Amino acid sequence: MASVVKRSRRVAVIGAGAAGLVAARELRSEGHMVTILEQSGGVGGVWRFDARTEADALGLDEQRPPEARVHSSMYKLLRTNLPREIMSYSDFPFDAAVLGPRYSSDSRRFCGHQEVLGYLDAFADYYQLKPLVRYHTRVVAVEPSTPGNGAVGAAAAGAGATPGAGAAGAEVQWSVTSERLASNGQASTSADGGGSKGSNSSHTQGREVYDAVVVCNGHYAEPRLPDPSQVRGILPPGLFPGQQLHSHNYREPAQWAGKTVLVVGASNSGEDVSRELSEGGAARVLLAARSWKNEAWGADAAPYGPHNNIYRYPMVTELHSDGSASFEGGRREGPIDAVIWCTGYKYSFPFLRGAAADVAAVSDNCVGSPLWLHMMPPGPLAPGLSFIGLPWKIVPFPQMELQSKLVARLLSGRVPLPGADHMQADIRAHLQAMKEQGLPTRYAHMQGMDQFAYNDMLAAMCGPEVAPLPAWREVLYRATSALKRSRPEDYRDGDISEAGGPEAARAVEEAEA
Ligand code: FAD
Repeated sequence: MASVVKRSRRVAVIGAGAAGLVAARELRSEGHMVTILEQSGGVGGVWRFDARTEADALGLDEQRPPEARVHSSMYKLLRTNLPREIMSYSDFPFDAAVLGPRYSSDSRRFCGHQEVLGYLDAFADYYQLKPLVRYHTRVVAVEPSTPGNGAVGAAAAGAGATPGAGAAGAEVQWSVTSERLASNGQASTSADGGGSKGSNSSHTQGREVYDAVVVCNGHYAEPRLPDPSQVRGILPPGLFPGQQLHSHNYREPAQWAGKTVLVVGASNSGEDVSRELSEGGAARVLLAARSWKNEAWGADAAPYGPHNNIYRYPMVTELHSDGSASFEGGRREGPIDAVIWCTGYKYSFPFLRGAAADVAAVSDNCVGSPLWLHMMPPGPLAPGLSFIGLPWKIVPFPQMELQSKLVARLLSGRVPLPGADHMQADIRAHLQAMKEQGLPTRYAHMQGMDQFAYNDMLAAMCGPEVAPLPAWREVLYRATSALKRSRPEDYRDGDISEAGGPEAARAVEEAEA
């Protein structure tokens, strides 16, 4: 094989969560110069529990200023929904004994959120990533420019542009504007430094120029609500007299003791929040979900799970001004004291400007049209602009690691970037597969069981020195899913190896080896 001259790039990584940390490790190990820009005062992203909540409890104003936002959606009693063995990056075990007491205080397989933060902290320390981070630095604008500083037009950056332009995006540079925040999150300066150093030790604020930007800003901070045309009465706020909030702003159950609470959405957060409310003394919890069609459910049916006051309902269709709610099939229940919307989150990249904003525009929960491999726009902005961690219904950390390995290699030129036509063909194939499965656009980044083939493909694209993830990870994932289905209320304390049979028992042994 002909030897390849690796290029070293100045790369800005936006965010120091699980994605940004592993991206920084992989980029640096490929020889790039990395600066991580992080708005908070520490690493860990969403795992940095924050007791504050937002005044705009439904997140209705997407333009609300950064100082009115809280990044983390963690609730106080949250335990992971995946076993720690498979949550880990490929080569850094999430094992309490290995981490030691400095980073670990909760050895449960499905541990509390503090333990995950400890893991990420240990990872950042072990790989000496913290010196790369500029804390209290919020990225406010990212825009492609030519070396002469001209903005790259949308047409030139579009999908039909020159195939594989500049192999490693050499012509396009990236203007990154950030503001320094006081530790309370307020912007203190926004001077135009005009610098183009991209140095990982400089703390100059203002505008800088990089060769590439890796977006790792997370996608669990911007609440998503059902369309008000489908659930009438959510808006205007105040029409329904009870309290309304999104799970982004739920922290603990105490304030709903003795109350009747409607929880909407029965995926991880909805299930967790309804149980917490029940155990926290709520009078009644109505748990409603779009996928639950059985209108015979309700307060006169048997309670859901072992809790004697959680009742299942089909999807809510209207909140009324008398404090009641209607459900599919016509039932009406009330009075309801509070509604907690556990209805997911929106992708949001408020800092992208110009052509970068065009190629990564978000529509119906789909980034771009969609991005190639969920990571980059087809055309000349690749690989200079990339995104780590967009897929959902997956095991995030190890997948982020593989995505980062590929981005690092595409930027260095060690792995050649396919032409735009090739990327477009991949995107068309993805859309066709979705169509065949009857999946609407909003599922463009949902993977579920497809994550394993995707992960293997990323590893293969990186070249022979990157091994695919071991099979035990998939076995444990499947066993966990089975356990969750059979014991949604207490799967975290169930026995995975029992649920998944001998194969899962062997997988646990391999994970522990
Ligand atoms: P984040 O962790 O959100 O990190 C993004 C970082 O970017 C943050 O530090 C943020 O401050 C920073 N940032 C954002 N915008 C800017 C800006 N403009 N300038 C500078 N910095 C910026 N995953 C699991 O594996 N297991 C679980 O059990 C699990 N449970 C979850 C439970 C909940 C309630 C939620 C919300 C998520 C859960 N996840 C779980 C998924 C979790 O989001 C991922 O594991 C992972 O932590 C996401 O990492 P990230 O780096 O992509 O994003």
